[in-house]
Amino acid sequence: MSERISPHFRRGEFACSCGCGFDTVDHGTLEILEATREHFGVPVTVTSGCRCPEYNARIGGAAHSQHKVSRAADIQVKGVDPDEVHDWIDANFPFVSLGRYDTFTHVDTRSDGPARWDG
Ligand SMILES: [Zn+2]
Ligand SMILES: [Zn+2]
Repeated sequence: MSERISPHFRRGEFACSCGCGFDTVDHGTLEILEATREHFGVPVTVTSGCRCPEYNARIGGAAHSQHKVSRAADIQVKGVDPDEVHDWIDANFPFVSLGRYDTFTHVDTRSDGPARWDG
């Protein structure tokens, strides 16, 4: 088990899927995820956290993706519609950048945000 970095998350949950070991996560991003976990009261799964440049390119990620700089996480909240997750974060953390997708919600803390888009 990897290091616990907040009450409900471990560092390994943010690790790049390619196995390179890149697993740094922005503190502000982690706080949003923790607040989301607390609000809904069910597990939050990080489906994509850190991405090294090679992995991001391989999966067709945006060239300047916030996943490459440890500020982004794609999340699924167990049993909760992604639209509801998106709208709750939007209402409570309006400075956070959000991408709305059918099966997950993209959250990031870019410095030139907030951005909003539909995936
Ligand atoms: Zn990697
Ligand atoms: Zn994302």
